[in-house]
Amino acid sequence: MANNEDLFKKLISHAREYGFVFPSSEIYDGLSAVYDYGQYGVELKNNIKNYWWRAMVQHHENIVGVDSAIFMHPTIWKASGHVDAFNDPLIDNKDSKKRYRADVLVEDHMAKIEAKIEKEVEKAAKRFGDTFDKQQFITTNPRVVEYFKQIEEIKQRLYPALEQNDLTGVKQLIEDLEIVCPISGSRNWTDVRQFNLMFSTSMGSTADGANIIYLRPETAQGIFVNFLNIQKSGRMKIPFGIAQIGKAFRNEIVARQFIFRMREFEQMEMQFFVRPGEEKTWYEYWKQQRINWHLSLGIPAEKYRFHDHEKLAHYANAAADIEFEFPFGFKELEGIHSRTDFDLSSHQKFSGKKMQYFDPELNESYVPFVIETSIGLDRTFLAVLSNAFTEEILTDGSERVVMKIPPVLAPIKAAVLPLIKKDGLPEKAREIFDTLKLDFMCQYDEKDAIGRRYRRQDAIGTAYCITIDHQTLEDNMVTIRERDTMSQDRIGIEAISGIITKRIKENR
Ligand code: ATP
Repeated sequence: MANNEDLFKKLISHAREYGFVFPSSEIYDGLSAVYDYGQYGVELKNNIKNYWWRAMVQHHENIVGVDSAIFMHPTIWKASGHVDAFNDPLIDNKDSKKRYRADVLVEDHMAKIEAKIEKEVEKAAKRFGDTFDKQQFITTNPRVVEYFKQIEEIKQRLYPALEQNDLTGVKQLIEDLEIVCPISGSRNWTDVRQFNLMFSTSMGSTADGANIIYLRPETAQGIFVNFLNIQKSGRMKIPFGIAQIGKAFRNEIVARQFIFRMREFEQMEMQFFVRPGEEKTWYEYWKQQRINWHLSLGIPAEKYRFHDHEKLAHYANAAADIEFEFPFGFKELEGIHSRTDFDLSSHQKFSGKKMQYFDPELNESYVPFVIETSIGLDRTFLAVLSNAFTEEILTDGSERVVMKIPPVLAPIKAAVLPLIKKDGLPEKAREIFDTLKLDFMCQYDEKDAIGRRYRRQDAIGTAYCITIDHQTLEDNMVTIRERDTMSQDRIGIEAISGIITKRIKENR
């Protein structure tokens, strides 16, 4: 764990040093849980958005996009349930004055017990060697069995208490588990209270309460309220989907872990409208589609896992998360939810407008059911970045930090580098750069020795380096260096663009 924490710290400082992510308002000491994306960050972010948009909208003829406003009619958030139920239970420690999410305190406690189990397993695996049977060990070792029992008992108390809004029960659980504040070390807790996560502001010039509006906490509602506009104007037939990428805002109680949990972030959401009764089939379909999308990036499969929800939100009849192994453990990256007809029916009720679809094949009208896929853009960014960060010792003993970002997402696809800064090489390199930049994000660099320039490009994850040398002037051939393997090929100038396109497609 200590190693991963180290790695995470290094990653954060690398992201800052190389222009991926900066703390917001840094010269004013920052703004908690708000971040800015720098020159390479914005490229990576745009590439992730494009990769998602293409997979959703371009590759599915029955999915179209929308870009709805962040400000929406306040009743929408009443209908969606956010005004009444988009709360987190918070608790303060009276000594450190630190605020915590009560459920997270308990979950962290369970994670500690899980870590103990892991330790026992590791120890036993070492002791038994090849004959070690993990399944048998965790089901029979008395200490491990006891740990599992403890976790189960906590779950049996925590989740029902949260569901029934039994805040006294949650507080009691924290007391019974003797959970201490990580800062003060004390158990001097306030009561648990509910805290609504929506940011509000007022619209117009008068300051009376009637004009209170919210910054959207999710992009999905902008899709639901446009369902009929798009269905009718686009003559869409069920099943069909609407995709949207945009900002969302949540006044998170504990914002931590860098860009994992922010107060202003971006979501990529898709709502897929289906016939009632067919939702389970489509739910399974989208679970598969989404995991395939992640795997297509070439990040190892063992970094992902599904977490099927046992406890479902009131509007859902099935839900799963795709979790990613971040440096701080497996955490939610994307949610896939079967939301029934909850949202459309609720908008129908609150707006008084029909939200129905006439199905020509069935010759009947109904409120469609919805499968939602909802992924955090910033969390995807963090997943890609943390998987990419690699420190290597090369055969000559030197070190390099290389960002092994999937080429299709790399902020800079190619760097064009004249071997030296004279003899007509810069002119030739500029010529190549000016052509290549029409096809890809490229960089021209002639400063410092070639080795140092390679290192700089490795550190920002540039997929290919094109080097121009004296030979180039004679035979119009250049060297193309591949970032991860550092292998080099000699290719013709006219072939550069085609070869890069082909390699990006193959993700190598
Ligand atoms: P969590 O349990 O981590 O708070 P959630 O279940 O509330 O997440 P959803 O409401 O399902 O999240 O939102 C969909 C996706 O939006 C999440 O899978 C995540 O990738 C992203 N997301 C949610 N909250 C944040 C946040 N505060 N910062 C960054 N991304 C977020």
